[in-house]
Amino acid sequence: MATESAPLGMCPNCGSDITRGYLLIEYDTEEGSERFAECPDCREIVHPVH
Ligand SMILES: [Zn+2]
Repeated sequence: MATESAPLGMCPNCGSDITRGYLLIEYDTEEGSERFAECPDCREIVHPVH
Protein backbone atom coordinates (compact mmCIF):
# COMPACT_ATOMS: atom_id res chain seq x y z
CA MET A 1 0.00 0.00 0.00
CA ALA A 2 1.29 3.41 -0.94
CA THR A 3 -0.04 4.97 2.26
CA GLU A 4 1.72 2.49 4.56
CA SER A 5 4.04 5.08 6.03
CA ALA A 6 1.42 7.80 6.35
CA PRO A 7 0.45 8.73 9.89
CA LEU A 8 -2.81 7.40 11.24
CA GLY A 9 -3.52 10.80 12.65
CA MET A 10 -2.63 12.95 15.58
CA CYS A 11 -2.74 12.26 19.27
CA PRO A 12 -5.69 14.18 20.78
CA ASN A 13 -3.72 14.60 24.00
CA CYS A 14 -0.35 15.92 22.85
CA GLY A 15 -0.69 16.44 19.08
CA SER A 16 2.07 14.03 18.06
CA ASP A 17 1.81 12.19 14.75
CA ILE A 18 0.92 8.56 15.27
CA THR A 19 2.23 6.22 12.60
CA ARG A 20 0.83 2.85 11.58
CA GLY A 21 3.43 1.08 13.68
CA TYR A 22 1.57 2.22 16.79
CA LEU A 23 -1.81 0.95 15.66
CA LEU A 24 -3.21 -1.44 18.25
CA ILE A 25 -6.63 -2.32 16.90
CA GLU A 26 -8.81 -1.38 13.98
CA TYR A 27 -12.42 -2.40 13.57
CA ASP A 28 -15.42 -1.48 11.50
CA THR A 29 -18.48 0.26 12.89
CA GLU A 30 -21.65 1.50 11.28
CA GLU A 31 -19.97 4.86 10.83
CA GLY A 32 -16.71 3.59 9.38
CA SER A 33 -13.49 2.19 10.75
CA GLU A 34 -12.39 2.95 14.30
CA ARG A 35 -8.77 2.86 15.31
CA PHE A 36 -6.99 2.83 18.60
CA ALA A 37 -3.27 3.39 18.85
CA GLU A 38 -0.63 3.97 21.46
CA CYS A 39 0.79 7.46 21.31
CA PRO A 40 4.60 7.28 20.90
CA ASP A 41 4.98 10.44 22.95
CA CYS A 42 2.57 10.36 25.90
CA ARG A 43 2.02 6.57 25.86
CA GLU A 44 -1.72 6.92 26.13
CA ILE A 45 -4.10 4.69 24.21
CA VAL A 46 -5.87 7.18 22.00
CA HIS A 47 -8.19 7.47 19.06
CA PRO A 48 -6.05 9.25 16.42
CA VAL A 49 -7.63 12.42 15.08
CA HIS A 50 -7.19 13.95 11.63
ZN1 LIG B 1 0.12 11.78 22.89
